[in-house]
Amino acid sequence: MAIKGKPDEFFDELEIMPAEVREKYLNQRLSQTVVYAYRHAPAVKNIFDKAGVSPDQIGTVKDLEKLPIIRKTDLIELQKKNPPYGGFLTVPPEDVDRIFLSPGPIYEPIQHAGIKWFAKAFWAAGFRKGDVVINTFTYHLSPAGILFHEALRDCGATAIPMGTGNTEIQIQTMYDLKVTGFVGTPSFLMTLIKRAEEMGYNFQQDFSLQRAWFTGEMLAPSVRKTLEEDYRIATAQAYAVTETGGALAYECGDKSGMHLMDEYVIEIVDPETGKQLGPGEIGEIVVTPVHNKVWGLIRFGTGDLSSYTTEPCPCGRTANKLTGIAGRTSDAIKVRGMFVVARQAEQVCLSFEPVSRFQILVTRREQRDEITLKVELKDEATEEDKQKLASDLNQKFQNVCRIKLDQINFVEKGAISEEQPKIVDERTWE
Ligand SMILES: [Zn+2]
Repeated sequence: MAIKGKPDEFFDELEIMPAEVREKYLNQRLSQTVVYAYRHAPAVKNIFDKAGVSPDQIGTVKDLEKLPIIRKTDLIELQKKNPPYGGFLTVPPEDVDRIFLSPGPIYEPIQHAGIKWFAKAFWAAGFRKGDVVINTFTYHLSPAGILFHEALRDCGATAIPMGTGNTEIQIQTMYDLKVTGFVGTPSFLMTLIKRAEEMGYNFQQDFSLQRAWFTGEMLAPSVRKTLEEDYRIATAQAYAVTETGGALAYECGDKSGMHLMDEYVIEIVDPETGKQLGPGEIGEIVVTPVHNKVWGLIRFGTGDLSSYTTEPCPCGRTANKLTGIAGRTSDAIKVRGMFVVARQAEQVCLSFEPVSRFQILVTRREQRDEITLKVELKDEATEEDKQKLASDLNQKFQNVCRIKLDQINFVEKGAISEEQPKIVDERTWE
């Protein structure tokens, strides 16, 4: 399983491709995928023809900008008009191995062959032969249960198809079978631990849990710290999208972002223009699977916001990393060409102990966007303290959100209510 010369560290050769080899590899996979999908999926042909683009014009990742982004709502509409797959199926229907369902509904055909790459995400998190793992994602309708189960098996681990719910049965299973691994959401693992403690167990002494793998929910730094330091559980997270059939990016031991999988072309784009953005710039994650021949989805807009980094990773993997999910496109607004996301602003503001509430106000003066941060403090503070806090806030805001605040206003206690939106856009465009 692990590649020669690098025992036990990497799952496959793709993970350590030099940048220029990866560029060539992805461009080549992409052109093959595009040609194949255009020929076999009527919906793809329609999209290309409408955009006036021929498949041979898509030779590089950059060329994808010529094509529109397909969103979940488009997919639902197209599947309704042309059931069941909306014209995206590229093989005869009898060759479809499994069909998953996402809310919408969206029907997602998958072929079993070639889905082994998800295993990379578990391998990087340390899952191996000898591990006994509960997979607490649902095995109904959605891909998470069965695909993660198989990925665990591909790493050699023993997988228990627990599915969701049944807290007490989960706890008893973990105890009786000396379960070493958990797959699910961080909040569900915390629920299991707390419940076990309520039942009188000493979690660290009585259970054998060593590692946990998360997706589908933000892993808050405080939760990660509790799991790692108080319970000695190694944690790793991955970014997965059901419509494109699984995990797209995964954490290594360095935990400084999620390496992109080479089975997809992943772009970070301005959701309004579809233009690709550079490292560090926040935009929408747009995905083109280049290893799934069944499903001709090209440029699927996930609605999730992130940015990427090209910084080399000490783990030795060479793929760029997603810097975490900053929020949804619907919770963000564009200010001076950069997306400001409510969740990121919150992360910055609430990391300062004296701050109780905040609100961002965006206005426009003399053809320029202005961004004001309103801050409410827990207690009275001196002018000096406020000045210091304002300067620290501005610096951190700029580091995290990549945009400079024009003003910070300290407002009276009670001036910002919990119900008010975190970002208010008061710009007028005359
Ligand atoms: Zn790494």
